[in-house]
Amino acid sequence: MKELRGLPSVDELLRDERLEAAPRAAAATAVRVTLERAREEIRAGADPGDLADRAVRELEEARRPRLRRVLNATGVVVHTNLGRAPLAEAALERVLEVGRAYSNLEYDLGEGRRGSRQDHVTSILQHLTGAQAALVVNNNAAAVMLALAALGEGREVLVSRGELIEIGDGFRIPDVLARSGARLREVGTTNRTRAADYEAAVGPDTALLLRVHQSNFRVLGFTEQPGVPELALVARRHGLPLVDDLGSGAFHAFEAEPSARESLDAGADLACFSGDKLLGGPQAGIVVGRADLVERLRRHPLQRALRADKLTLAALEGTLALYLDPERAIREIPVLRMLVEPAERVRRRAERLADLAGGAVEEELAGLLRAADPPVVGIVRDGRCLLDCRTLSESEVDEVAGLVREARGD
Ligand SMILES: *Cc1c(COP(=O)(O)O)cnc(C)c1O
Repeated sequence: MKELRGLPSVDELLRDERLEAAPRAAAATAVRVTLERAREEIRAGADPGDLADRAVRELEEARRPRLRRVLNATGVVVHTNLGRAPLAEAALERVLEVGRAYSNLEYDLGEGRRGSRQDHVTSILQHLTGAQAALVVNNNAAAVMLALAALGEGREVLVSRGELIEIGDGFRIPDVLARSGARLREVGTTNRTRAADYEAAVGPDTALLLRVHQSNFRVLGFTEQPGVPELALVARRHGLPLVDDLGSGAFHAFEAEPSARESLDAGADLACFSGDKLLGGPQAGIVVGRADLVERLRRHPLQRALRADKLTLAALEGTLALYLDPERAIREIPVLRMLVEPAERVRRRAERLADLAGGAVEEELAGLLRAADPPVVGIVRDGRCLLDCRTLSESEVDEVAGLVREARGD
């Protein structure tokens, strides 16, 4: 058993050749942290083991990137905690090209003068959604906030009580409305709202009608929500814009997921949606719709604070370009590919994983798998750690199998 007095000094430990090879400040920090822990362990009556080895491990740990690739074995294709959409190769190539050199981000090459960063994705978004105009900001929360601030500041926004949602991580429609400077006017009830409720609520102070996709919850039973066409009629009658927060806003036709084109065709004046949900691109908020309204958003001071950066725009352009050929989009955009893959093929991968990993994975391994390199995140349920193969590729199945065997000590 070591004693506190017997612990080496910082300088003594730093003479280890593995630590000597590292930058001095980083090595010294690792040694100090190691010694501090060792003191605590000795006071608690434990043996701290080989301190030089531990300091080397500490140093490696400190140098390892904190934001890392993870193997998603949850089966949740758009997992907000796991970075949502993995990007298509074609999108990543655009990021590399634009990121490693200068670019025409805000330069009009034809005119030889300042241009707009928004121009790069406008025409492809017009083409894909049929919109007159488009704008891209950091995420959909920012898009909704900007639309409300630019069109509703100091005035009333009508929202159904059935759509006053929280998406997660504090994005609550009533709070976003308050922050934008607009006033919330609730209409209808939690389960039933009719177009007539909006009609009755319109007053001299009304700025716009906001429709919000319910996204992550459903009200079942005795329910009613007006569709975009009915809301558009009310909006038209009073000369007010209808803003549709679609949430995901898929381009690919998914059952019950409204597309931006459908929303605009049905009469919405603006549609807002995320870049990294069903679209399968980078984090971004996309607003499409009437040119005069988009222009008001573009001119609002918040736009400057919320605008997307060049890497996002490059990845978004790369992703959107794939949608010009729908079959290519399904083959190459990971989110689409995983969502449409037949269950039978997922099952075959799962059977292969079970074979390679040696059967069911015990719950106790879940923590070890999260600590693996790369980490594996599964689902703990009923005493097992379930590994869902919908979100694992063929080669990732091999990786996971190896990591499971390692975690078991096989
Ligand atoms: C997800 C979502 C948002 C927020 O989008 P982010 O891109 O995550 O900022 C806003 N509204 C709805 C309806 C959503 O589903």
